[in-house]
Amino acid sequence: MRGGMDLQSGESAGTNVDGRYSRQVLFRPIGRMGQEKLQHSRVAVVGLGALGTVQATQLVRAGVGFVRLIDRDIVEESNLQRQSLYDEQDAQFGRAKAEAAAEKLRLANSKVIVEAQVNDLTWRNAEDLLMDVDVMVDGTDNFEVRYLLNDVSVKHGIPWAYGGVVSSYGTLAFFQPGQTPCLACLFGDESPAHQDTCDTIGVIAPAVSVVASLQVTEVLKFLTGNSENLSRELVQVDVWNTEFTRIQLGSPHAGCRCCQKKEFPWLQATQGDAMTVSLCGRHTIQVRPKDKGDLSLDEMAIRLAPLGQVRQNGSLLRFEMGRMTLTLFKDGRALIHGTDDPAEARSLYARYIGM
Ligand SMILES: [Zn+2]
Repeated sequence: MRGGMDLQSGESAGTNVDGRYSRQVLFRPIGRMGQEKLQHSRVAVVGLGALGTVQATQLVRAGVGFVRLIDRDIVEESNLQRQSLYDEQDAQFGRAKAEAAAEKLRLANSKVIVEAQVNDLTWRNAEDLLMDVDVMVDGTDNFEVRYLLNDVSVKHGIPWAYGGVVSSYGTLAFFQPGQTPCLACLFGDESPAHQDTCDTIGVIAPAVSVVASLQVTEVLKFLTGNSENLSRELVQVDVWNTEFTRIQLGSPHAGCRCCQKKEFPWLQATQGDAMTVSLCGRHTIQVRPKDKGDLSLDEMAIRLAPLGQVRQNGSLLRFEMGRMTLTLFKDGRALIHGTDDPAEARSLYARYIGM
């Protein structure tokens, strides 16, 4: 509903350019024309953690017309050090990140349509959630989702800004189908070996801000028609040692299964359909049963009430028993907090929710 209203006011927003967006319009490469283009652009931010909250903030404040926020997770206290859209209340209530972020961003810019998708991006829904945007921005923490984005990108001709950060360093690149190599050209279909994660070696906020800002810069160049200025490099940054490394992306890999042979295994059930996934950042296992269908959270709340503490908020239900907390979403997906053991998480799910 609010979306419809805002779309209607798109024209008048254009005449207000001198106010809200004046500094951005004064920046020559964007100018009034670029600002208009932003207002008619659609972007998906995938993952609303450290990178995603910075990306989404900059895109919404810049006046991109439509921003879709996709995230499967909830806010926790350990996020607050670097995930700049959340506060202590969000963590206390375990709010869904996509919803909490959307709420804050609408306060920052009511002219932008901000859509929250509390959802796990998988081969089943990736095309539905991403096909209708002009650019995708990677705010995820894992290569399974990045290869999914890469397949969608090449199959549907949608550019994307790749980015990843751990410790004090990060990497980014802007992939444009038909113009640059793709992620699979660079890394095959492997996650880089012995991958360090935020789990094992931590991460500092300034590294995140730098990488996210560089990703958004490429997105702004693309959306405002400054394609000649797009980076064709893999950029590595280490903020602690103040080091920048730039590596030419070069040409697409001759035999690349993705951008040359047009094979998209990540968009099929053959790749990446694990039922349980350990989430980066703390003792949490995600359980994603196959073909569960929609659940009634109201009914589930009544069923679980005698067994522990139950709290419903927005599109999720929280169930606490002992040292474990189970967060259940409408589509049957659950986050089991308090364990690192997939078998324990599965059995807990089977016991309380049912497989
Ligand atoms: Zn390729």
